[in-house]
Amino acid sequence: MSKIRRDKERLIKSLIWEGVLKSSHCIEAFKRVPREKFVWPGFEDEAYIDTPLPLGDTGQTISAPHMAAYLIEELDLKPGQIVFEIGTGSGYQAALIAECIAPTGLDRRYWGHVYTIEINEVLVEFARRNLIETGYGDRVTVIRGDGSRGWPPELESELYDRIVITAAAPRIPTPLIKQLKKNGILLSPVGRGFLQDLVKIYKASDGSIYETILLKCAFVPLRGKYGF
Ligand code: SAH
Repeated sequence: MSKIRRDKERLIKSLIWEGVLKSSHCIEAFKRVPREKFVWPGFEDEAYIDTPLPLGDTGQTISAPHMAAYLIEELDLKPGQIVFEIGTGSGYQAALIAECIAPTGLDRRYWGHVYTIEINEVLVEFARRNLIETGYGDRVTVIRGDGSRGWPPELESELYDRIVITAAAPRIPTPLIKQLKKNGILLSPVGRGFLQDLVKIYKASDGSIYETILLKCAFVPLRGKYGF
């Protein structure tokens, strides 16, 4: 067995043991998506160490595996859902989400879709290439732009079953709350400084908003109109 495969099995076991990976569909997604194809060239050997890694000289990072796993568990994803991610970075989180809402092997008629938006031009191209090469090109659309304004920008329409911001926001951007469907879940790191609160928003069927703080986390800052 190759070193990468051994490292991957060990990491999955420890994430299950730690209680981060819990549901069978998330474990399956984690097994299927090759993180070594989403790290910056030269970092392949470190792909299954549980740490964020730099994305070239962009100043941005691919999130740590435990955080990527935690987010897909908390999003409570189901096949067929439409998901919006703000901060594509490497495309890794988007691929994990795609495996949950459009699992490999499921009839395409039942596939959901991931829309993911990235503000950094270099990373838009990097993520697009990674997603196509790993077979997620049809399940994930990478958009270039400011995701803090939603997509389409500032459109007041409930479009997404799930929204996840993978950068820390000063507060949750209002356009994103408006674009969340009823019974939808939105996750976002909120706050300044090295550690932020990971906030979960639930929009009930009557449109009321419930907010919970899940844990402390460390993300790069959200930029753009509703960012820093
Ligand atoms: N989810 C990524 C990691 C995200 S790092 C992964 O799996 O690799 C956060 C990303 O958010 C960075 O790439 C940064 O460029 C991007 N970002 C920051 N502000 C943004 C904004 N307003 N709109 C879109 N992307 C943004």
